[in-house]
Amino acid sequence: MNNVLLGSIEAGGTKFVCAVGDSSFNVQEQVVFPTGEPEETLAQVIEFFSAHPVAAIGIGSFGPVEVDPASADYGKILATPKLAWRGVNILASLKKHLAIPLFLTTDVNSSAYGEYVKGASVNDHSCVYFTVGTGIGGGAIQNGQFIGGYTHAEMGHTFIKRHPLDQDFEGVCPYHGADCLEGVASGPSLLARTGQKGEQLPENHEIWTILAYYIAQMVLNARLNFAPERVILGGGVMQQEHLMEKIRATFEELNNGYVEVPDVREYIVNPAISGNGSATVGNFALALRELEK
Ligand code: ADP
Ligand code: ZN
Repeated sequence: MNNVLLGSIEAGGTKFVCAVGDSSFNVQEQVVFPTGEPEETLAQVIEFFSAHPVAAIGIGSFGPVEVDPASADYGKILATPKLAWRGVNILASLKKHLAIPLFLTTDVNSSAYGEYVKGASVNDHSCVYFTVGTGIGGGAIQNGQFIGGYTHAEMGHTFIKRHPLDQDFEGVCPYHGADCLEGVASGPSLLARTGQKGEQLPENHEIWTILAYYIAQMVLNARLNFAPERVILGGGVMQQEHLMEKIRATFEELNNGYVEVPDVREYIVNPAISGNGSATVGNFALALRELEK
């Protein structure tokens, strides 16, 4: 399978990224377009792969989405607030036009897989990848398999302890209110509290201490629940470089010496694949895995 071409589809809530890669998972062609109406958007995907034929495609989708290959609804978008997409079966639509092996999982599972095969966790047997962006999501891998079964994990909506300086904020999660991680630590929660987007907030703003407190709980909970060999933090909000040190320090405070971890600088890390490319690499690798089945 040395000269094989592989496909990647990142089906995001705001944009779609389609790519062609080689068997070393290097990108050869890429196209980005905004997520519009389902029919029109999926037609753009099909058009791209008709012009750039590949042997198999890995798809990382926004969710919630049915990820069980044994389910009749495999590939179907579930209870999303993006109403036009609710009930749309991405995989089934693509299958009608692309007669090649397709594999679909969540966007964060794809990112986790990319870091697992060619990034920060390349020497590990397990890892958890989180994105902190418009939403928060997590994907966990154990020996090359995604944790899950009854649909996929929803680590972004776990419940966390509030920071003393952040008791009155009502959160932005429409489902779980104030104590939901995504509700108080996603990018939109920064805007809701301060009136400014994360990228505009100064480094010395108090909000970063509060945010680090929540993200550190998220990482500690992952350590307690899954005992992964590494925790990788990606997404737009993590582009705040100072945030990582605050998260590591708060993680150690909260853990209070209980569970063993390696040096936190090696345990809690940014993605090693540059340019937001973890999911693309993961999708190529998942496509190859599907092809070799
Ligand atoms: P998405 O989650 O939609 O795929 P991103 O991971 O880029 O996309 O996350 C977008 C969110 O991250 C927005 O809420 C944005 O304000 C926030 N964000 C983007 N860049 C930064 C930054 N440098 N610092 C803090 N927040 C950021
Ligand atoms: Zn929630």
